[in-house]
Amino acid sequence: MPDDIPYNRIFELAPGRAEELVPGVRRIVADNPGPFTFKGTVSYIVGRGKVAIIDPGPDDPAHIAALLDAVRGETVTHIFVTHTHRDHSPAVPAIKAATGAEVLAEGPHRASRPLHAGEAPRMEASNDIEFRPDRTLADGEVVSGAGWTLEALATPGHTANHMAFVLKEADLIFSGDHVMAWSTSIVAPPDGAMSDFMNSLHKLVRRPESIYLPGHGGEVRDAPNFVAAYIRHRHAREASILHRLAKGAADIPTIVRAVYIGLDPRLVGAAGYSVLAHLEDMAARGEVLTEGPPSINGVYRLAGS
Ligand SMILES: [Zn+2]
Repeated sequence: MPDDIPYNRIFELAPGRAEELVPGVRRIVADNPGPFTFKGTVSYIVGRGKVAIIDPGPDDPAHIAALLDAVRGETVTHIFVTHTHRDHSPAVPAIKAATGAEVLAEGPHRASRPLHAGEAPRMEASNDIEFRPDRTLADGEVVSGAGWTLEALATPGHTANHMAFVLKEADLIFSGDHVMAWSTSIVAPPDGAMSDFMNSLHKLVRRPESIYLPGHGGEVRDAPNFVAAYIRHRHAREASILHRLAKGAADIPTIVRAVYIGLDPRLVGAAGYSVLAHLEDMAARGEVLTEGPPSINGVYRLAGS
């Protein structure tokens, strides 16, 4: 399938080194590269003197020390968390203990829908189920600090509690793992949900901000067009799945082999869950049928076939 997303995979920042990206926004990358994290998790420092940290990152002593070193002589007043995967929030307790900052997020980790009988939360190992914010944020809520103003944008889909944050003083959004320049976002039920993810993309595509700063990799430029490409990419995936099912009923591994050509073997499992996310959405719309609730082991066919 042609990939029409204008990816940008240039990202040269060395782990542990803070870099000012635009005035009042610094970034620092954790040393946790991998197939799901690209070069590592990017933590952001917003403001000067009295600052906010967005996504303290994994529970990695070197990254925590580097972050605290980067804000030496400054006061951290707020810690924002985009979502509760283990590469984003487990450093919160250490940063909070060192700084006394208030922790703000949409809420604790939760699945996007009730679990089916016998279904386990898939990414148990990936989820920071201990996380509790000091203060929960609602969609559209605005938080002001010394020289910065952040607006919370509920953007569920990658996780149920995912939030992006608009920096009102600049033309930019901290987009977490919802929109990233290097890759598509992973949407894996039951933690993620494709219908939520698409709604969140449609919410962002109408917004004017042109630059997104994601949780992994470098900045997204010309963001509204990039988000539109993300939406087209998902529609194309859906069309490919329907095309495969038009040839006959299939299980998810069969669909993955038909739809994902040249896939990194380390990503086959994630691709299966991504297909499940699409199938859940298509089953809810009545386009696809399966026995019982859509599951990773299910067999799927077109409605009316
Ligand atoms: Zn992440």
